[in-house]
Amino acid sequence: MKGFPWWTEEQLAFEKKVNAFVEEVIPLDQETRWKRKFPREIFKRISEQGFTGAGVPKAYGGLGLGATGACIAAEAISRMPGPGRVFVGNMLGGLRQIIELGTEEQKKYFLPLLTKGEIGAIAITEPYAGTDAAAMEMTARPGETGYILNGKKRFIVSAGVASRYMVYARTSTSPEDRKNFRHLTAFIVEKGAPGFSVEMINEVIGFENIQNGVLDFHDVHVPTTHVIGNEGDGWQVMTGGLNFERTLISAQTLGWLRELLGNVVPFTQRRVQFGQPTSSLVNNQFKIADLITTYKTARLLTYYTAYAWDLGWDTSLESNIAKLYNCEGVMNASLDAIQVMGGDGLTPFYPLSAIMKVAKVENIAGGTMEACRLVIHRMGLRQLADQLKMPRRIIHEELGVPVVTNQVPEKQATVDADGLLKVLAEDYRVNPGLHMSREDLKAFFDVADESLDGVLLGLESRGLVKLHRDRKGIALAKATYEGLNRAFPAEHYRWFPEWVEAENIF
Ligand SMILES: Cc1cc2nc3c(=O)[nH]c(=O)nc-3n(C[C@H](O)[C@H](O)[C@H](O)COP(=O)(O)OP(=O)(O)OC[C@H]3O[C@@H](n4cnc5c(N)ncnc54)[C@H](O)[C@@H]3O)c2cc1C
Repeated sequence: MKGFPWWTEEQLAFEKKVNAFVEEVIPLDQETRWKRKFPREIFKRISEQGFTGAGVPKAYGGLGLGATGACIAAEAISRMPGPGRVFVGNMLGGLRQIIELGTEEQKKYFLPLLTKGEIGAIAITEPYAGTDAAAMEMTARPGETGYILNGKKRFIVSAGVASRYMVYARTSTSPEDRKNFRHLTAFIVEKGAPGFSVEMINEVIGFENIQNGVLDFHDVHVPTTHVIGNEGDGWQVMTGGLNFERTLISAQTLGWLRELLGNVVPFTQRRVQFGQPTSSLVNNQFKIADLITTYKTARLLTYYTAYAWDLGWDTSLESNIAKLYNCEGVMNASLDAIQVMGGDGLTPFYPLSAIMKVAKVENIAGGTMEACRLVIHRMGLRQLADQLKMPRRIIHEELGVPVVTNQVPEKQATVDADGLLKVLAEDYRVNPGLHMSREDLKAFFDVADESLDGVLLGLESRGLVKLHRDRKGIALAKATYEGLNRAFPAEHYRWFPEWVEAENIF
């Protein structure tokens, strides 16, 4: 696979190495999957190669290849969906959180363990808190030398096999802290802690040989050395970790897309129907073209996001876009690939149906597609704010139609009812059907909010203006029919294109 121009020599060489390794162990993965055995042996071999340290800085025993290296390994290893999941889960068990917020002691203790391949897990979700993670109920109360955790976590990948669990719990019941997202704290809990147990292992599609389960914490003591960040920082630690998780999941989908392509293309070249290989049917070619497009675009998105991580940029928007695009993309691609292969695509003798299942899982796990869209909407509006300003429009003197202008209106130092009504009525001509925002009105009147509101309320009481209110108060305004008539004579609003014959209007 070709690397990207911004990859370092080390990253390029790493890609070759990890891909060659995967070619070697894929047969073993198939065997493990059919036998429904946890892929411990493969994971051990992955760790022996040092791949588990791809994203760990060299100073702590890792390969120092950054988020890009972690994604390169996740892509290649995820051609084997089971080991890929454990590999990614290991990093989710605190890699980013420890690198960014851990103390020097925590880095020296946890990062070498992670590199060595001691399996890690992430524990956010609870029976009564899924997408609404801030509503989690697990408590952490101060103990003599740390905190005491009580509660349950569910849907946890590698539950039971993992040694290290990145756990979030409530340390405050104050409504003020809850409002400001200061009610959570992040902890690392190690296997063997008294009171910490596996309550149940789920049967989940796509998890045929990977454990996924419910964890129970009953008066589990966590020493202060295992608190990541400060008390109350949990939400920030968690959202940063989730962005990294979404980048890694995006990389996983690349491995799945590769497997889909690598199976479907050679298959269609060898399957003959109506006297020709099915690869020559245009409907199959179109689906394969879509698959290639999804793979190449998903790859670009993922490695751009990983590069942004490595540059230290804020990737909140990009990591959510990558997860959304890649996970929906691989879901659709797996259905298309099965369609192209016909009945054989549905048998477990090819990996297509297994990929369809893991793809569906990733439309939910690590943040649902809806959760990603919510973040993209919020962050996108913020990031693109400069480009999302309402264009100013006026009526063109000669043409008589609304056109965009860069003329700034002359601001009036005071505001009165007639002037304000005229501005609203003129806006009916240039932006028909729209209300004016407070910001729009303040482009015409250089006055305090209270003065503007006072005049608007007066006009509203006279039935000349209609107001729309939000949580903060008056948000939007428009002139009513009576208001329009009061502001200008009916003639002011009339306009017809020249081609319209006079006899056809009245
Ligand atoms: C196989 C698997 C592995 C997982 N692994 C882990 C793990 O290792 N660690 C971990 O902590 N968690 C894990 N999870 C949990 C996963 O993150 C949650 O399942 C996910 O966040 C959704 O929560 P939920 O299932 O409770 O769905 P709910 O939150 O109940 O949501 C149900 C539906 O409503 C939608 N919805 C909810 N709120 C909104 C909203 N405000 N606006 C619009 N739509 C909304 C959702 O998008 C979804 O479609 C895993 C889940 C699965 C299935």
